[in-house]
Amino acid sequence: MTDSQNHKTYTTMPGIKLGWLTTEDLERLAKIAGRYAPPMIKITGGQRLSFLGLSPEKLEALKKELNIHDKPRHSRNRLHNVQACPGSQWCKYGSGDSLAMGEALDKLVLDRPLPYKVKVGISGCRMCCCESWVRDVGLVAEKKGWRFIFGGNAGGRPRIGDVVAENLNDDEAVSLIEKCLNFYTEQASYKTRSARFMERFGIEALKEGILE
Ligand code: SF4
Repeated sequence: MTDSQNHKTYTTMPGIKLGWLTTEDLERLAKIAGRYAPPMIKITGGQRLSFLGLSPEKLEALKKELNIHDKPRHSRNRLHNVQACPGSQWCKYGSGDSLAMGEALDKLVLDRPLPYKVKVGISGCRMCCCESWVRDVGLVAEKKGWRFIFGGNAGGRPRIGDVVAENLNDDEAVSLIEKCLNFYTEQASYKTRSARFMERFGIEALKEGILE
């Protein structure tokens, strides 16, 4: 067996905000990767980098060098992962600035810990490259503003999210998402993903709870 077959190890690099890398990041990562020579380097579905197949000793050394900790970096008062497409800054189809919205949501700190992880997908147009319909929180830019979708999931029991509101400007979208997440935190029990919560709770009850 090769080394990579023996070691089904991996580590995923957190902190690559919105899948956004600078040339300095790439140079540094290329140097480090060159030294450790992982059998596989992969971009994950969550727009992060994963190093696979290293021996446990090399993996530990790599994690130390990249400052990767086994404990989650975020407290549960923050969103687990925010994905954003290039949006109107860089894509000719974009009508919403997905990257700026992603930065705003990445900074969000909620009043209390969330029931479970919340993944966010932000797409700058209805082509929906960031799969916003199957994220806990989805935003899709339309000509008149953001469409906010809640309760989607792409996992083993997939669910298409419910449309909570449309035609939101940037501030309205952030503020409604915060309100929705605080409401979900109050109503859902610990370890209930938004998809399962919405199946039981229903979109009309959610709207009643968070829309004026
Ligand atoms: S969702 Fe639209 S704006 Fe975003 S990358 Fe895809 S085509 Fe471009």
